[in-house]
Amino acid sequence: MPCSYPAVAVIGGGASGMMAALTAAQEPGRRVFLLERQQRIGRKLLATGNGRCNLTNINAKPENYFGSDAGFASAALLKFTPQHTLRFFSDLGLLTTVEPDGRVYPLSDSSNSVLDVLRFALDQAGVEQRCSFSVESISRTSKSFLIESGTERLRSDAVILACGGAAGSRLGGVTDGYRLGKSLGHRRTGLYPSLTRILTGTDYPRSLKGIRVEARLRLTKNGRILAESEGEVQFTDSGISGPAGFDLSRAVSFGGDGQQLHISLLPFEEGELLSLLVSRRQHFPDLEASELFTGMLHNRLGRVVVKAAGIAAGMLLHELTDRQLRDAACRCLDFCLPVRGAEGFETAQVTAGGLNTDGFFAETLESRLVPGFFACGEVLDIDGPCGGYNLQWAWASGRLAGRLGL
Ligand SMILES: Cc1cc2nc3c(=O)[nH]c(=O)nc-3n(C[C@H](O)[C@H](O)[C@H](O)COP(=O)(O)OP(=O)(O)OC[C@H]3O[C@@H](n4cnc5c(N)ncnc54)[C@H](O)[C@@H]3O)c2cc1C
Repeated sequence: MPCSYPAVAVIGGGASGMMAALTAAQEPGRRVFLLERQQRIGRKLLATGNGRCNLTNINAKPENYFGSDAGFASAALLKFTPQHTLRFFSDLGLLTTVEPDGRVYPLSDSSNSVLDVLRFALDQAGVEQRCSFSVESISRTSKSFLIESGTERLRSDAVILACGGAAGSRLGGVTDGYRLGKSLGHRRTGLYPSLTRILTGTDYPRSLKGIRVEARLRLTKNGRILAESEGEVQFTDSGISGPAGFDLSRAVSFGGDGQQLHISLLPFEEGELLSLLVSRRQHFPDLEASELFTGMLHNRLGRVVVKAAGIAAGMLLHELTDRQLRDAACRCLDFCLPVRGAEGFETAQVTAGGLNTDGFFAETLESRLVPGFFACGEVLDIDGPCGGYNLQWAWASGRLAGRLGL
């Protein structure tokens, strides 16, 4: 049987593009071009997971994902699950380790290992890599696509758009994919930074800079809960960072003015914490009030909570009333900061929003408007939480697009 799409161009040498190219190259006799605007492929992949590359999460399921129509992602995610990702990388020779929360990393703890095995596989599969090829236009002629950069042009029978999103602009995140999609008649949603730092009122965070704590977070607006998360929070000089903060940043980006962040700093109910504080007052009556949380919280954080509860510096524990202890317990379990917004695309890990998924078939990721045109990865209006979910979407959607409708 003749090969369907004898020449395929994949635009974007990131996670989803590499997977799409490897999949497309499985068809004997097909030429696959991987076009990358930067000097090398996989630059963002190297920076993932703080250089460790959290390549998937064994708990990732379709219901974990977001988008105007998040259900669109199900077909790809069910066809290529985290177990498939593990097997795929194991077949490429990558050893991995699974952390208790389901995050998967290379055993080497280095994202280089992930990129290296992908590069070897691309070479072995005969994928023709063209770096420093920044695609400026795609046009459909009657029989093929014409792809042009400022200086080069290339023809192909099918195109897979894998240009990623606007996030991580320091690592090459650009909006080209949306523009190229638009040139073929596709539309996009609004774009918002996600998995980024939350900017808060800065009175407290500045003095808390660098402190990490396991906490429960609640984001509210006019008394209504917008989103909740739980896990590690890191205070920065302008707000909070860390996985639990990142997971709320999407809601912050969408939420507008007047949001409040409530941080529960200890895993207790108010009554339990109050009893602990009462017994502390009893056992250490002559300690300064600023030490009320010593041994329970980081020292600097404990002092800030005492201050936020309105307790005067220099008081001794035996001078504190029950009311004051209750106020301190409340502040500790509801440390509240006004939200100023989410940090921008420069530092965001992912883009919320993208090309409208209603322009593509969920079962193949082929365009409903332009036959032979496919899209995958972050350029589509699908994103996930922190913890390996976004790379899982990149692998799964790249796999599906690379099958080119078969
Ligand atoms: C700092 C950071 C850390 C992250 N950590 C994790 C993590 O640990 N786990 C996780 O699951 N996710 C993580 N992510 C998110 C994850 O990296 C992305 O969701 C994923 O890389 C998206 O894959 P993609 O192929 O769609 O896009 P990308 O990986 O961004 O690849 C797109 C590629 O297309 C190229 N390109 C763009 N325009 C053109 C053009 N006109 N012509 C040619 N080429 C073009 C770009 O240069 C780029 O190489 C992180 C992101 C960042 C920024």
